[in-house]
Amino acid sequence: MEERVANWIRPEIRALSAYHVQDASGLIKLDAMENPYTWPEDLRREWLERLRSVDVNRYPDPQARDLAQELRSAMQVPRDMALLLGNGSDEIIQMLALAVSAPGRSILSVEPGFVMYRMIAAWCGMDYVGVPLREDDFSLDMPALLQAIRAHQPALVFLAFPNNPTGNLFAEADMLAVLEAAPGLVVVDEAYAPFADSSFMSRLGQYDNLLVMRTVSKLGLAGLRLGLLAGPSAWLEEIDKVRMPYNINVLTQATARFALEHHQVLDGQTAAIRRDRQALFEALQSMDGMFPYPSQANFILVRTASGRAQALFEHLLHNGVLVKNLHGGHPLLEDCLRFTVGKPEENRQLLKLVEGFAHG
Ligand SMILES: *Cc1c(COP(=O)(O)O)cnc(C)c1O
Repeated sequence: MEERVANWIRPEIRALSAYHVQDASGLIKLDAMENPYTWPEDLRREWLERLRSVDVNRYPDPQARDLAQELRSAMQVPRDMALLLGNGSDEIIQMLALAVSAPGRSILSVEPGFVMYRMIAAWCGMDYVGVPLREDDFSLDMPALLQAIRAHQPALVFLAFPNNPTGNLFAEADMLAVLEAAPGLVVVDEAYAPFADSSFMSRLGQYDNLLVMRTVSKLGLAGLRLGLLAGPSAWLEEIDKVRMPYNINVLTQATARFALEHHQVLDGQTAAIRRDRQALFEALQSMDGMFPYPSQANFILVRTASGRAQALFEHLLHNGVLVKNLHGGHPLLEDCLRFTVGKPEENRQLLKLVEGFAHG
């Protein structure tokens, strides 16, 4: 059987390792950029009441029109721009790749960056080009980036703004230079928009190759799987042709609408996370051997003293706190861990353990 598998599964798929998610049962979960807050009981009751009227025997609205309207206003999508919804922004990345894929075509992004760009390029038979960020501050290395764009003529460029796992916003002037230079589409992935002070949404239309991608995952609805792509209809009408007809299920449509109608609750939560991010950053900065990077997202990238990241990761895990260990993932992430900002008591527990580790 192995031989048959090897004969038929494409070599680039066999070379991949499946996206690994660590079991977090019983742990304080600070590894996946989730909003740590649940909904107040009265809101939960109202939501369940709303779901009572959802007919699961019927297919969902294939265009999710009511939800799209709600998303337009929540995310300030310019009126003259089109909208495309996906089962998470992961599915949108896949739709984009499917729509442009052809032998020899490439997806270009920066490294360290979001791993799905590379994985989906492989799934869709595209080449992937990863251009390293600058070592000192994770900014765009413009000479290298422009050179790579010239050399590879990528069909798709993905720039996460803020970037994951580094947490920084790239300079807008650099991003605009990429938009000018790129022959194909430039997708600005704004997964962390609720925590950032800057966005490209209002620039849609100024560049005919600019698309903006958002998700409700980091906002507090990761379990729903809902992302969106905004941009000129000439592009989105084509990309819509590779979308699964009913990709946003009825429960997601109803729940996301309900949540966005009560957006003050989510806004309050994200505002708290932004405040607590600042407190967490300052506390980490004051510790010996801990070097946090400034973040515009709901996580903080931290560099430990040389050779200490794995031991700190294990110390946290053994004491009930799961974070993301990035050491070994990319040369620029040597000795790095990523902490998602949690509830104040979770952050306190994290800080106490980090402090204990430094003195232990
Ligand atoms: C988390 C993340 C996403 C994920 O989005 P889903 O909508 O949950 O699929 C997309 N882009 C970046 C950069 C992320 O960090």
